[in-house]
Amino acid sequence: MLKECVQHGYFRGTHCPVCGDEARFFMDDRELDHIARIVAGILRHFPPRYGISLDPQGWVPLPRLVQAIRSQHRAYGWLKAHHLIALAETDPKGRYEIREERIRATYGHTVDVDLDLPTDHIPETLYYPVTQEEAAVVLEIGLRPTDRKKVHLSKTAVDAYNAGRVRTPEPVILEVDTKRAQEDGLVIRRAGKTVFLVDQVPSQVLHRFEGELPAPPPEAEPEPAHTTPSSPGPSPSGGSSPRPRSRPPSRRPEGEA
Ligand SMILES: [Zn+2]
Repeated sequence: MLKECVQHGYFRGTHCPVCGDEARFFMDDRELDHIARIVAGILRHFPPRYGISLDPQGWVPLPRLVQAIRSQHRAYGWLKAHHLIALAETDPKGRYEIREERIRATYGHTVDVDLDLPTDHIPETLYYPVTQEEAAVVLEIGLRPTDRKKVHLSKTAVDAYNAGRVRTPEPVILEVDTKRAQEDGLVIRRAGKTVFLVDQVPSQVLHRFEGELPAPPPEAEPEPAHTTPSSPGPSPSGGSSPRPRSRPPSRRPEGEA
């Protein structure tokens, strides 16, 4: 659940991780999950469905977002800006940014936004998961966004692997030489805590990652990381990439990845 400790701020859980206090209740897990999906959906995919328009950099005033959610979901008549601030600040992946009473998603957009995110502190290598079938083609012609507006790169090979497992049981991980990419003029931006955005990645800075990856646990559900099942896939032809038919439908249909 989402709570606020008067001393240590917002947190997710039953007791403050710092002082162990029971703290002030904000919302339960079901509400948190649902509201997070609504917020992600609005900020990434369908603002007009809630009568909202994002500014060019993807921002929306917090009071406006609160009002839109309350007007379409009667059950959330209690919702206030501080609930959304708490949700954003405790997001484990840094999916949201809040500045001057405004909120935006830091990545995952399928609507056009011009994210003025920072370009410093880019790791020397970043990673991207593809299916076995896609690997050869992508290594030859490079990586372009498909469902989303940007290519979403992961900070570590394991992050990419976990993201890729949403689409395929044994993803191939590609490594991006970001130093060389930046020398070639590519702008890479820091989005969430483990996500980096770029318009496209040319093949000459892509390599197959040969390091160690965790063995796929046969039963475990893959962690829905920054790729949703309904989403990316470097599809060089620009069409949608093939998906295994056996995968269950997404439990996070609105892109709360
Ligand atoms: Zn505390």
